[in-house]
Amino acid sequence: MRASRFFISTLKEAPADAEIVSHQLMMRAGMIKRLGSGIYTYMPMGLRVIRKVEAIVREEMNAAAAIELLMPLVQPAELWQETGRWDKMGPELMRVKDRHGRDFAIQPTSEEVITDVVRSEIKSYRQLPLNFYHIQTKFRDERRPRFGLMRGREFTMKDAYSFDRDLAGMQASYKVMYDAYTRIFNRFGLKFRAVAADNGAIGGTGSHEFHVIASTGEDALVYCPTSDYAANMEAAEALPLAAARPAATEALVKASTPNATKCEQVAELLGLPLSRTVKTIALTVDHEQDGKVTRQYFMLLLRGDHELNEVKVGKVPGLAAHRFSTEAEILEVYGCVPGYLGPIGTKAPVTVVADRTVANMADFVCGANDAGFHYTGANWGRDALEPALVADLRNVVEGDASPDGKGVLAIERGIEVGHVFQLGTAYSESMKATFLDENGKPAPLQMGCYGIGITRILGAAIEQNFDDKGIIWPTALAPFELVLCPMGMDRSELVKAETEQLYAQAQAAGIDVIVDDRGLRPGAMFADWELIGVPHRVVIGERGLKEGNLEYQGRRDTEATAVPLADIIPFIK
Ligand code: ATP
Ligand code: MG
Ligand code: MG
Ligand code: MG
Repeated sequence: MRASRFFISTLKEAPADAEIVSHQLMMRAGMIKRLGSGIYTYMPMGLRVIRKVEAIVREEMNAAAAIELLMPLVQPAELWQETGRWDKMGPELMRVKDRHGRDFAIQPTSEEVITDVVRSEIKSYRQLPLNFYHIQTKFRDERRPRFGLMRGREFTMKDAYSFDRDLAGMQASYKVMYDAYTRIFNRFGLKFRAVAADNGAIGGTGSHEFHVIASTGEDALVYCPTSDYAANMEAAEALPLAAARPAATEALVKASTPNATKCEQVAELLGLPLSRTVKTIALTVDHEQDGKVTRQYFMLLLRGDHELNEVKVGKVPGLAAHRFSTEAEILEVYGCVPGYLGPIGTKAPVTVVADRTVANMADFVCGANDAGFHYTGANWGRDALEPALVADLRNVVEGDASPDGKGVLAIERGIEVGHVFQLGTAYSESMKATFLDENGKPAPLQMGCYGIGITRILGAAIEQNFDDKGIIWPTALAPFELVLCPMGMDRSELVKAETEQLYAQAQAAGIDVIVDDRGLRPGAMFADWELIGVPHRVVIGERGLKEGNLEYQGRRDTEATAVPLADIIPFIK
């Protein structure tokens, strides 16, 4: 590739809405362009990285005997109604109508369609096992799209679906996918960890998430350095509660001071299991006395993904007096600081107004009560992580004995980039996807499903690999592996000739090379490629050439090295 014929568009400053480093750097490097909330154009530079991710995923899927197909983006509502997910998915499922008024879903995932394919194609156990995959655009109307490609609404996912005759077969297919994922993330050149995960609403018998390790990750991972134990926070059950942890309570006081969104971290700290069916809601309460406003925080744990309609308040003294006029089943109520709920308990009932299901508590709104308390909006989710706070929380949980008795727990943060599920027969039963077994009897297919967030991987890779100059791509993912930077190509015939020769040699050696023939000044040229994150740079200058040398600098190197002309290709390879 020649830079003059490619499209390169870099920025000095990131736009204000880019909160995290990967989003900022992808915008500055001209990899993506925002069209709307959570919706991006993949610009040529970004698309090259996406294609590299896809190619590795595709090779490993094919090697694991998964078969590629492509399913529609727009899917009839009837299929989604068969499994009940038309209702269960809530507002995350994007729905559209055609000109006849018929309902359709824009796919967030494709279990229904693949099960429909298989139920009409598969008759006999002889046709099994089977694993189909596709790499496709997904749409999820996320509550808070943010962080660029990390949590988009439109994004690219690889998902695979396995079909087996029995449980053992399904578990074997699952293992094959688990191992393929391990190879894929190794080939990406990223530090990652597979953790046991909650099956959540999908149900089934087992599940693992693959996380790219990054201190900015949204998820906390609990693992034991001396054993195989590794789980995400939802799956890491039964860690001791606050009462047994004075240190935790102390950290929690700190945690509760700056803002309410930290309550979820507090829940983590206390080891409260936050599964998909138990959500926390952190409430901020502004308490006005003698003209002074004090903000307080507490946290509700809600169980169930049904409509809110009944409230039972338990455990926390002082809050028992409250009548919540929500329709929620409040499992337990925790104050962030033991006893802090006292002042609330002495006032009139809290009124909590919620108009969504518990699964979508984002817009949980608290009204003002008669006593003049002002209850501002509720919040849950792990926003605004402060490294210092996270370190506090870590100190507390790290060192706990582990569930398998083989060591103590450690905690690190990760970004969920892949997720494998043992689905069992949940979908095949509701959609009547059966096959004839060896005795000629119909039996439901055993299923598994396996997702990789193709576009999220770009964000995750950058969160793990960057410096103050820009992105540092692992070679396997880089948009170009090598950039040739000629100094004064238009002035020096020697430089021009050597550059052309080197360009041809690099291509012949199978190196993904770009030559920067834009005629920029060296400073501007280097800054662009450091920002874009190309792993290898070779500067071709007249002075060096006269001594038979080129100037090589790896993206992580602090200075350039002189490399003899003849050695440069083997040096890079
Ligand atoms: P999250 O917990 O981040 O919302 P998820 O558990 O809902 O993700 P899955 O249904 O397991 O996601 O989908 C498989 C993979 O798709 C995820 O592991 C993730 O890498 C990717 N993914 C999910 N949602 C998004 C999104 N909004 N933007 C980009 N990638 C996503
Ligand atoms: Mg999600
Ligand atoms: Mg998840
Ligand atoms: Mg997941």
